[in-house]
Amino acid sequence: MDLIVEYFTNMPTTHRSLLLVGGLTFFFLMENAFPFFKQDYNKWRHSGMNLFFTLTTVLVNFSMAFLLVASTLWVTDNEFGLISWLNVPLWAQVIFGLMLMDLLGAYLAHWVQHNVKWMWKFHIIHHTDQHLDTTSANRHHPGESIIRFTFTILAVFVVGAPVWLIFFYQSASLVATQFNHSNMNIPEKLDTVLAYIIATPRMHRVHHHYREPYSNTNYGNIFSFWDRIFGTFTRVDNDKLVYGLDTHMHVKEIESIWELLKIPFVPYRDRIEYDEEEKL
Ligand SMILES: [Zn+2]
Repeated sequence: MDLIVEYFTNMPTTHRSLLLVGGLTFFFLMENAFPFFKQDYNKWRHSGMNLFFTLTTVLVNFSMAFLLVASTLWVTDNEFGLISWLNVPLWAQVIFGLMLMDLLGAYLAHWVQHNVKWMWKFHIIHHTDQHLDTTSANRHHPGESIIRFTFTILAVFVVGAPVWLIFFYQSASLVATQFNHSNMNIPEKLDTVLAYIIATPRMHRVHHHYREPYSNTNYGNIFSFWDRIFGTFTRVDNDKLVYGLDTHMHVKEIESIWELLKIPFVPYRDRIEYDEEEKL
């Protein structure tokens, strides 16, 4: 536990960059070697667009990092947040701290974006991807990156997160999202067992089905049990899934970065009414 605290307190920026690039490369190679869907698409073009949005995500996070630093300094100086109030021992800070950061910074942020219309319009871009793979992980509108960042700050205040916990959480969160978006074919039994604790690709793919109610399930990023606890967990045979979003299925429309960036600022399109016959 001390090692985790020590390493993440002084985690160099180069290690953070390495994790981003290394994780993407690892899952990219794995999903090419063992693909789940053998889709025929221009992987380089697809990756190019997703990496553009990954870059804007990194830029937003980088330019707002000072807010995160100020928040963590303030909560630790003022003994604010659950860790101080409950006098939580270190081992529990590592485990429960990570769980709570994931609940507030990822699950809640994601759920709210699906349920508040103006935030949903920023999140649409992430769902327009019709060829889900590990590069889809950070395909976020810059506005969504700001929304997610705000929820991370909220989590820092509630948890009273010290700097090591933030870096620990962000590192785990990054690898988790690259993993659960990957097109890697993990044996179904292993995936089912893992899905009791962590969000797996087989689980998160359902979230990217183009129709409701499936796109409003399986929000989890690191841990899967939030979905089970809050009743948003669902299991679907992945072979039946169709990626994308019912309101934005025209390829021409979603192949342009500019068109995607504009989505939050153009009129809202209602989701298509779900028909019982479409139950998967
Ligand atoms: Zn979503």
